[in-house]
Amino acid sequence: MKPAPFAYAKARSLEETVALLGEHGDGAKLLAGGQSLIATLNMRLSAPSLLIDINGLRDLAGISQRDGMVQIGALTRHAEVERSEVAAKHAPLIAQAMPHIGHPAIRNRGTFGGSVAFADPAAELPACVLALGGELDITGAKGKRSVKADAFFKGLFETALGPQDVLTAIRVPAATAHSRFGFAELARRHGDYALVGLAASARADGKGLADVRLAYFGVDSTALRARKAEAALAAGSLDKAVEALDGDLDPPDDLQGSSKLKKHLAGVLLRRVAAQLSEARS
Ligand code: FAD
Repeated sequence: MKPAPFAYAKARSLEETVALLGEHGDGAKLLAGGQSLIATLNMRLSAPSLLIDINGLRDLAGISQRDGMVQIGALTRHAEVERSEVAAKHAPLIAQAMPHIGHPAIRNRGTFGGSVAFADPAAELPACVLALGGELDITGAKGKRSVKADAFFKGLFETALGPQDVLTAIRVPAATAHSRFGFAELARRHGDYALVGLAASARADGKGLADVRLAYFGVDSTALRARKAEAALAAGSLDKAVEALDGDLDPPDDLQGSSKLKKHLAGVLLRRVAAQLSEARS
């Protein structure tokens, strides 16, 4: 199918982008990598009157590490994050997740910010940002603000972003010697969206783990923390953590599989990820 007609504007600055969003309201959409947006236009799931192309806003791209945080500009392509030494060293959970996102052609165009803003419930990056306790930097009509990941993902393709907001950067705490991470997903074929996935972080505390954060994807309308399982894992019982998932997760039956199957797979992934969390980083 072809998209409904739309006008196109190439944004020259962040200020101009926010102003254009203000003028056109819900009728305008930002165009980043286009890897999700163009498909929704072609299928006529969305019919904006104006596309605002933000690809020229180079200040929104790039990865850096400062003051104990890794900052990833919203326009940074997945492929750049995948190749980044800063990400590999200081945000290894994100580096580990990257090869699971689609295929090389998608990662060459798709952006980190586009994935987080789109908030597909089966996407890897929203769950990674949630597992890391990251922060999202936003510029809108009233200026700049930061929103914690726990308050950012609100529901199905719904985030704390308002119609006049631009996500400018994602910040996550840089890994320390005590940081532990785990990532696993089950997909029908490599590169497909996950049937069930889990991104996790924790802090080594003696022989155990503290500050455990388990962020599932593909099991609900948004990336979701399994808080009862987090508490059980921090208390040292993997079996109890797997049992606790029953109270944490209520995946819907869908074409991908039954609720019961997805809950079972969530437990399988927790055992795999818990093994990774227990390993010291090299
Ligand atoms: P766009 O498509 O340009 O935009 C997506 C939405 O976000 C739009 O509503 C847009 O207005 C909004 N937006 C974009 N940038 C901003 C911003 N800075 N501030 C505010 N709003 C913004 N993703 C996965 O996670 N896992 C997969 O396995 C996966 N497989 C895929 C397979 C295929 C065949 C395809 C086509 C895509 C797949 N993707 C997958 C999606 C891919 O990761 C996209 O890159 C990503 O979801 C959206 O990023 P984008 O830069 O392309 O955003």
